[in-house]
Amino acid sequence: MQAAGVKTDSKFPIPEKMKAWVLGKPGELIYTQKSVPTPKKAEVLVRIDAVAICATDLQVIHEGPPALIEGGAPFNKNFTPGHEYMGTVVALGPGVDEYRIGERVTVEIHAGCGQCVRCRQGMYTSCHNYGLNYGNVDKGHRANGFTTDGGFCEYQVNNINTLVHVDDSMSDEEATLVVTAGTAMYGLTEIGGLIAGESVVVSGPGPIGLLGAAVAKALGAQPVILTGTRDNRLEMGKKLGADHVVNVRHEDPLEAIKRLTDGKGVDYVLECSGAPNAVNEAALMLNRGGKICLAAFSHDPVAVDVSYLVRNNIYMYGIRGEGKSATRRAEAFMRQKRFDAGIIHTHTFSMEDLPEALRYARERIDDAIKVVVRNGLPKSGKPLLAK
Ligand SMILES: [Zn+2]
Ligand SMILES: [Zn+2]
Repeated sequence: MQAAGVKTDSKFPIPEKMKAWVLGKPGELIYTQKSVPTPKKAEVLVRIDAVAICATDLQVIHEGPPALIEGGAPFNKNFTPGHEYMGTVVALGPGVDEYRIGERVTVEIHAGCGQCVRCRQGMYTSCHNYGLNYGNVDKGHRANGFTTDGGFCEYQVNNINTLVHVDDSMSDEEATLVVTAGTAMYGLTEIGGLIAGESVVVSGPGPIGLLGAAVAKALGAQPVILTGTRDNRLEMGKKLGADHVVNVRHEDPLEAIKRLTDGKGVDYVLECSGAPNAVNEAALMLNRGGKICLAAFSHDPVAVDVSYLVRNNIYMYGIRGEGKSATRRAEAFMRQKRFDAGIIHTHTFSMEDLPEALRYARERIDDAIKVVVRNGLPKSGKPLLAK
């Protein structure tokens, strides 16, 4: 790699071209070649070692939004999806001394433009110049795998503000989960910051909900109650720190919350289910003045009992992604082994087997939760590791 001011190291040789998956028509991924990108000011080049698959990747690949490429749908634009990745720094852009070559890092998704009012407030996931990063409207905004190329390839450039150092005690697979824990942490930051001894319901034991229970417990919440429909996921939640779990197929969740809180209800609900009646149920689980954080997408518009929210002074927050450097704070909990995020990693595939890995994630084959793909492993057509 030869570009003015870019530093490299012969221990980490960088090819001109790399293998990369690109999105064709909806649902179609093509394994092809791309040029290795060059880091600019305040950027590094990351050699991608491992990438976790997220439900949002499946949505992007099959439906398009929330990806926004060149102002529109991401199809047939030579776009590489994938956003939950980690790797090794192999080149430093001009002036970068915050990271060193050879350092392991995991990556936040959003680098805001850095110049709009929200970025100035630290709300870079709500950047007002979202997706304005092409042609003659280049505001420098990046959201890996959403508005710019992501991680289903071998190398990617990243803004230094999106990087989180990965400790040697953490495996590559676990490091891909830092951003998921960071999303849960951001939700708990946005509702005002959980204070030890406050009570929390987490609804929906998907990856964010499971790690939401873990982060809430690590922050000192008491009790942490996890609700869901699948016993195996709820059992995982217990291992991650939930004090109580409620299978809503077997017990009315509102009755259960009352029973577990002496009839009072909880202080916070972290809503990670996206279920049609989730907002109304969350409101009924809270005590007066309680707060709801919405972290899941509902499929269709939903009816909400607004009068109940107003009468009971209930606060409602929506979060976008993993803002306010919450990812860094989540990594601190993981490095201290306050919870074992690795519990939710279920399968590893070679990067070359990405379509099969996506199928495992989509169809939840073999109880798949977090499926990871790795570079540098031979194609085999089946999982290389399954828990
Ligand atoms: Zn994700
Ligand atoms: Zn901005």
